[in-house]
Amino acid sequence: TVSVVLYTADLRVHDHPPLRAALEGAHEVLPVFVRDPAVDRAGFAAPNRLAFLADCLVDLDRALRERGGRLVLRQGDTVAEVRALVRQAEADEVHMAGGATAFARARQERLRRALEEDGRRLYVHDGVVDVVAPGDVTPQGSDHFAVFTPYHRRWSGEPVRTPLRAPGAVRVPADVRSEPMPRRSSVADVSPGLARGGESEGRRRLASWLAGEGDSYEQGQDDLAGDATSRLSPHLHFGTVSAVEAVHRARRRGGAGAEAFVRQLCWRDFHRQVLAARPAAATEDYRPRHDRWRRGPEAEADLAAWREGRTGYPVVDAAMRQLAHEGWMHNRGRLITASFLVKTLYVDWREGARHFLDLLVDGDVANNQLNWQWVAGTGTDTRPNRALNPLLQGKRYDPEGAYVRRWVPELAGLGMPELHEPWRVTGPGRTALNYPEPVIGLSEGLQRFRRGRGLV
Ligand code: FAD
Repeated sequence: TVSVVLYTADLRVHDHPPLRAALEGAHEVLPVFVRDPAVDRAGFAAPNRLAFLADCLVDLDRALRERGGRLVLRQGDTVAEVRALVRQAEADEVHMAGGATAFARARQERLRRALEEDGRRLYVHDGVVDVVAPGDVTPQGSDHFAVFTPYHRRWSGEPVRTPLRAPGAVRVPADVRSEPMPRRSSVADVSPGLARGGESEGRRRLASWLAGEGDSYEQGQDDLAGDATSRLSPHLHFGTVSAVEAVHRARRRGGAGAEAFVRQLCWRDFHRQVLAARPAAATEDYRPRHDRWRRGPEAEADLAAWREGRTGYPVVDAAMRQLAHEGWMHNRGRLITASFLVKTLYVDWREGARHFLDLLVDGDVANNQLNWQWVAGTGTDTRPNRALNPLLQGKRYDPEGAYVRRWVPELAGLGMPELHEPWRVTGPGRTALNYPEPVIGLSEGLQRFRRGRGLV
């Protein structure tokens, strides 16, 4: 007998319940990944993620080959490709991880129906991509938690399954055609500082991070220059690191840093359960505030300045340039730049979310759209109208200015307080900086936001 394992956002061999279940029930397994043009059409195939994905597929194929198997790569409609493979290999069942987006859920249901028509079964496994699956914990009277703190309390009390070992041997039917594995180098327009993908790299990062910097994480997680967060987000997005295993290992390690890290993983599940219950929140306000977002040429120009990292606010520009260079941005930078776009420039959060999704290697519908909504105050933040002051944020989270100096080199020669307030520099020194004036005054921006939202 043959079982198919359909890989999606779970590109690993360690702690992989669908692979384990397939191996238990069958003589041979067929591990498959489908490059589906529908994903590209939906705008999620950004170059940084495609390059990282190429690393992941190559590494997964290598891990399966080490065990006697291989990865089968196909191109086309996922349902049609899997159905054809199932027929060809005379497989009995298909195993895959459960998804949270409307796209993933619709694909899952289409596949289930197609397989049933052929008398085959689809098994969807929870707890592969997330720790606690959407809908597993709910508050009384609702299908999802809308506030993080009570969700975190419930989530923390849930049992977490023991991580599974990687299988020793994987036997794959010989006569199944595969596309060649993609190469990272064949993807154009990739950020020059993009991290490497793949399970081997993800596991290395998890281990070294838990062994080393995990301790300073609690105090250091907001320090922009310290860069003390795990940088596991792309690995969690592509599933090259299992969230269940990360929670287990962090808890085993113990300490305040590890606990704070586990709490961040809970945020990930929190947003997933909101999106699964309210799929429209990917594009529509979760809690409408009836904003009158700015549109037109002036708003377009401000948006362009924000994208390009030339707003005249050093910490905002530093973070936007980090995003362009690495395809990744520090969480504090994401909060500052998102708040600046939405509340200081009063530009629709969807514009910012789209730009982030174009570049972020960890760009994820649930995490990106719902974090943007959180910052915009149209989501789950219980203080929807607060705005972050980029000047105070810069002084607080980049007190030595090392982050700004790194990403905005034209300001590197300035001391404090000018580094965070370059407009204090006057005369010829100002022109020589070759750095823009602020696109708008902070209080002016805030007043416009408050008027637009009908708060004054
Ligand atoms: P760590 O601090 O080491 O945290 C560990 C893991 O916890 C992360 O890898 C991530 O999986 C999860 N996590 C941490 N913070 C959050 C959070 N606020 N919400 C959900 N999960 C979290 N994260 C994404 O993975 N994809 C996105 O597209 C994304 N877009 C964002 C957009 C905005 C406007 C904001 C404010 C945040 C966004 N985040 C997103 C959340 C967060 O910024 C990143 O997960 C984090 O910076 C990744 O770095 P790290 O792996 O070093 O995080």
